[in-house]
Amino acid sequence: MEVLIADDDALSRRILQDVLVTWGYQVKVTKNGHEAWEALQREDTPSLAILDWMMPGLDGVEICKLLRQQAKDRYTYIILLTSRYRPEDIVQGLEAGADDYIIKPFNPEELKYRLKIGQRIIDLEERILGLARIDYLTGLLNRRAFMERLEAEISRSKREKTSLGIIIIDLDFFKRVNDSYGHLAGDRVLQSVARCLQQSCRRYDFAGRYGGEEFILGFPGVTKEGIQDIAFRIRKSISQCKTICTGQQEPITVTASLGVACMEDHFDADQLISAADDALYQAKREGRDKVVMAGS
Ligand code: GH3
Ligand code: MG
Ligand code: MG
Repeated sequence: MEVLIADDDALSRRILQDVLVTWGYQVKVTKNGHEAWEALQREDTPSLAILDWMMPGLDGVEICKLLRQQAKDRYTYIILLTSRYRPEDIVQGLEAGADDYIIKPFNPEELKYRLKIGQRIIDLEERILGLARIDYLTGLLNRRAFMERLEAEISRSKREKTSLGIIIIDLDFFKRVNDSYGHLAGDRVLQSVARCLQQSCRRYDFAGRYGGEEFILGFPGVTKEGIQDIAFRIRKSISQCKTICTGQQEPITVTASLGVACMEDHFDADQLISAADDALYQAKREGRDKVVMAGS
């Protein structure tokens, strides 16, 4: 784990850096408040920071206040380092948004365990954020997480002038699966299809559950011809995917309709999705178990 430290005093900075390195942390060293603030604004900033309270320019408490005013995706756990020990000082630091404080000169054992508390909280936060992105039934990205990733990949593909394709998949007559075999069996089928989709994806492709029995896949760098071939392959592998359920003699099989769209023809996420959606409905109208390319 990486820890950011900020201290204007060279000697205490050195001591702090040394103990952290000894305990196996990577350390990002900053020498004053402004440097620390800049480092904390970077995308790859450490999630844990030890800030000296008294620094010229921007002090530790001011950094806390500014940081807490920002709406950030990732939390920064802040330990204030201070030679002030009166209760009212401590309250002021905590009020500014610090998570913890250590009084200077610090006791290494105490710091060690306070860092562990911070690490535990950061780990928990990462786990919760991870869970919030995942669809509980299939383990694929949920719709919101998929859309975030799609937006990011579209920006990248515009920047790098590469293509990107998406496929929206809707299982055919899925209501009948529930009606015939029950909801639990239906759930097992959704899980099997999700596994099958994951196996059809390369490492940088991304797969999400778009709605009940609807899935969505993103393929960065894939051209119009490429994405069509992928869709044909996926249609076939879904139809060959067998779900074995307890109490059922025969495995359950399903087919799917697929709508395909490519960035070569469309501009943004909304356009891309709406084009793939139209293509999907055309596939349904034309008899299902079918791939339709947007605009064809
Ligand atoms: P179509 O070919 O036109 O898509 O027919 P369909 O039956 O698949 O479509 P419809 O929209 O009528 O029904 C979708 C069904 O998917 C109904 C709903 O109960 C089922 N479904 C949605 N989410 C879940 C789920 O999480 N688990 C189970 N078992 N079924 C689900
Ligand atoms: Mg549907
Ligand atoms: Mg359906």
